[in-house]
Amino acid sequence: MPLKAEPEDLCPECEGRGWVIEQDSGAGTARRCDCRFQTLAPRLLAGAGIPARYHNCSFKNFDINAPSPADKDQLLQAKTISQHYVEGFLKPDGAFTESGLLYIGSPGVGKTHLAVAVLKSLIERYRVRGVFVDFTTLIHQIQSTFDPGSPESKREILDPVVNTEVLVLDELGAQKPTPWVNEILYLIMNSRYTKRLPTLFTTNFRLEPDSVTTHDSLDRTPSSPGFQLLSSRISPNLLSRLYEMARPVAIEAEDFRREVQMQKHRF
Ligand SMILES: [Zn+2]
Repeated sequence: MPLKAEPEDLCPECEGRGWVIEQDSGAGTARRCDCRFQTLAPRLLAGAGIPARYHNCSFKNFDINAPSPADKDQLLQAKTISQHYVEGFLKPDGAFTESGLLYIGSPGVGKTHLAVAVLKSLIERYRVRGVFVDFTTLIHQIQSTFDPGSPESKREILDPVVNTEVLVLDELGAQKPTPWVNEILYLIMNSRYTKRLPTLFTTNFRLEPDSVTTHDSLDRTPSSPGFQLLSSRISPNLLSRLYEMARPVAIEAEDFRREVQMQKHRF
């Protein structure tokens, strides 16, 4: 989405045109104005659609404090993997990496925080084009295009999601997996896979039945959202595609315990 600059924001050198004419013996030579590069990262950040509540998320303010050392280790590991991902994003051949990350954990643990921190770092460091979408919001936006009076088409909503250089797809599996929802998800994932564009996913659902350690007597009911399997929310072909597209980063046990701790304090 192009952002309209306020008049006072206009560069004094090029007056917002983005190029300047350098004097030569003839009619002058056009060159890109420096402001294009200086203002590119802020413009890309502003255009990435990061929700206001996540605007300030960075690696610096990611909280790795947890009651148990094991949980602290897990948070630190998730942060380190994320930072390494940013470090290694530009491959030696000059191309961007094709694979993404899949943050797995209960709500509130910091999955979205890390995904946003990665996205912001990639934009600031490599000037990539990135987009953040919450899967539920996206589905609702697409549904609203079915209204005959809708100003936007399904394609206009999906195009930036499918084509952006880096996508954060927040809350994978959050929508009831109807055939239509799966179809939309398939379109997004398959297009990005084919175009070799990396995606950062977050999900509240687990990959494997045994990926959560039962190291204490916590009441883990299968119906609690953090412990349902992702395979109950997306189709098998999407799940295997997901494995090909993203490296899992689990921070799931942590938050559940935090939440239980909080409940314990409450009573
Ligand atoms: Zn300029």
